Amino acid sequence: SLKGKVALVTGSTSGIGLGIAETLAKEGATIIVNGFGDHDAAVAAVKKAGAPKVGYHGADLSKPSEIEDMIAYADKEFGGVDILVNNAGIQYVANVEDFPIERWDSIISLNLSSCFHTIRMALPDMKKKNWGRIINIASAHGLVGSVQKSAYVAAKHGVVGLTKVVALESARTGVTCNAICPGWVLTPLVQKQIEAKAQAQGITVEEASHDLVAEKHPSGAFVRPEDLGGLAVFLCSPAGDQVRGVAWNMDGGWVAQ
Ligand code: NAD
Repeated sequence: SLKGKVALVTGSTSGIGLGIAETLAKEGATIIVNGFGDHDAAVAAVKKAGAPKVGYHGADLSKPSEIEDMIAYADKEFGGVDILVNNAGIQYVANVEDFPIERWDSIISLNLSSCFHTIRMALPDMKKKNWGRIINIASAHGLVGSVQKSAYVAAKHGVVGLTKVVALESARTGVTCNAICPGWVLTPLVQKQIEAKAQAQGITVEEASHDLVAEKHPSGAFVRPEDLGGLAVFLCSPAGDQVRGVAWNMDGGWVAQ
């Protein structure tokens, strides 16, 4: 049970982040929701899943000063962060020579640098309590590449590297740091890519969805947000005490090929 623990899940108004927040809530954790869009609905969903207390902070994580505000809010209102799930992320698809510079910068800033900032700000308090869990949502693209995703793949490989260093630096403490590397999960981020594929190839959205998964997953099936939540719960459990610095793929067999 995660009763008495406070989990900050970035980008938890949608998709994987919301699924992980709900799964941690089911275990009794207090949840701090972050992200854009309909945050009232996300807060209500997390409450319904069983969180004893739910907070919300709308920090734009591409801005270090707003991350600082969010961590200060967690300290003041909840007595700090015990479980930090770095999940917020964005995608953009183009060949490297056509990749818009501002898209490169915003992907590196949100998908990679925001993890550096949340970790460096939350870690001292975890070390003081001698217990903490840092879970970075990387991607199969933290382990292997795909065409047209230079910024995303670079950022996600960076997250895996950051994960290893933080795990080593806290190895003698009760704080662990690990990465989860999902394959395809049907979220708004992926729905956009499916619709673009359908449009480009003149096929239906259903066909595009099927082809997208079949191309990478030997299983032919999407990963579900709640399954990723289950892995996060395991990493938070006592059995996860000596799991340190791993990049654990849950990807329908993608990177086993
Ligand atoms: P999503 O688009 O459904 O959710 C993204 C979340 O991040 C939302 O809550 C959004 O409001 C928030 N967000 C976006 N920009 C933000 C900003 N500047 N500041 C704060 N919050 C911001 O996406 P998702 O598919 O659930 O992806 C979540 C994470 O999982 C991302 O890091 C993504 O790279 C990773 N991932 C997704 C898949 C997949 O197939 N969906 C696979 C591997 C990894």
